[in-house]
Amino acid sequence: MFESLKKKFNGTIGKISDKISDEEEKTPLDDISEEKKEKTTSKKSESFEKLEKIEEPVLEKEKEETGVREKLSGIFSKKEEKADEKTVENSKKTEVVHKKHEDEADEEKSGMFSFVTQKTISENDIDDILFELEMSLLESDVALEVAEKIINSVKEDLIGKKIRRRSDVAEFTRVALRKAVSEILGVETKDLKEMAKNAQKTGEPLKIMFVGINGTGKTTSIAKIATYFINEGYTPVIAASDTFRAGAIEQISYHAEKIGIKIIKHKKGADPAAVAYDAVEHAKAKGKEVVLIDTAGRMQTNVNLMDEMKKIKRVVKPDIIVYVGDALTGNDAVEQASKFDDAVGVDGIVLTKADADAKGGAALSIGYVINKPILFLGVGQSYEDILEFKAEWMVEQLI
Ligand code: GDP
Ligand code: GDP
Repeated sequence: MFESLKKKFNGTIGKISDKISDEEEKTPLDDISEEKKEKTTSKKSESFEKLEKIEEPVLEKEKEETGVREKLSGIFSKKEEKADEKTVENSKKTEVVHKKHEDEADEEKSGMFSFVTQKTISENDIDDILFELEMSLLESDVALEVAEKIINSVKEDLIGKKIRRRSDVAEFTRVALRKAVSEILGVETKDLKEMAKNAQKTGEPLKIMFVGINGTGKTTSIAKIATYFINEGYTPVIAASDTFRAGAIEQISYHAEKIGIKIIKHKKGADPAAVAYDAVEHAKAKGKEVVLIDTAGRMQTNVNLMDEMKKIKRVVKPDIIVYVGDALTGNDAVEQASKFDDAVGVDGIVLTKADADAKGGAALSIGYVINKPILFLGVGQSYEDILEFKAEWMVEQLI
């Protein structure tokens, strides 16, 4: 799921990290003898690790002093000779080694980075890499406004960040990306279980109306959500309000029978609002807590279809209108969601076929673009293949 986005985000962390670390590695070796240079290079990553371990206490002690950078630089050189010497001894020797490295200080001031001093991330360091990320997000069907927001947020967070050790770069980038993606996914969500519970208390059923065009997985999703409520201990009833096609009534009836729940249906061509109305009456009469209303899904530009949706809405006053979209259709899914939202107002989203979606662009963008939460992801063809969507989970998946 979402392999392409995953690869792009994590690739960006690697690229930024490599670029800044490459710069960093150029500096502190210049004045050292050839032999030592070789030794140092081979020990570089080992030294980084060791340095990270001792850097913290040294910094704590010497924070106030002005010569911290040079001292740490000296400590690093010493660490090549005897890595396990105590910090205090290192500090003493620092003074001696420091003299040999005075010239380097100038070089460092001119912007070169020694891993034991500080480097500040500049726009120049990350601009190209983030531009590349933006382009590849667009290729993965991430909406333009979402891609731009992510890039700007990451830039804002990284530029000016002071780096003290190699691992800082990757960590700062990871944190910045996670924050950017969390912001995108941070639309306030709705708790359907909680709503069903409240419905149970009031005696009024929870009415959920599903909208979306044919073939996206709407009927399957209704069956999955019915199963979800059954598993939570509620009794749903389905309204077969797609009366436009005889096939639609048969299809949803088939699912209802397999799950073992009641379906309210009229003949093909009947008033869809009437079917939904009857399903609500049935739920009230039988004490069922949830009414799931299927609707027709001709092209979303069809004016009659939108009027039909409006009428169902007017007649049954659903508590939630859920747009069902197919993740595989990328930006189309986002556009359709906007159209349904404009026409009838959407409160939440079910995104189907996430299991087959390598790109992930729709999942990342759709909630942000229409400012409505994704409630569920469809992740397969069986009735249990549905995931309650959580922003943190998605961030975890991606970065
Ligand atoms: P509808 O016309 O919108 O009601 O679409 P259907 O519910 O009939 O689904 C169309 C096809 O998509 C069917 O073959 C479903 O099994 C399949 N489908 C629906 N949801 C998912 C999903 O989450 N993952 C996968 N892989 N297939 C799905
Ligand atoms: P409009 O002319 O497009 O506004 O729609 P309608 O007037 O035909 O439908 C809205 C009204 O009809 C509402 O007040 C509903 O109570 C009522 N209504 C619609 N369908 C049904 C139904 O199947 N059964 C019942 N009892 N009333 C319905």
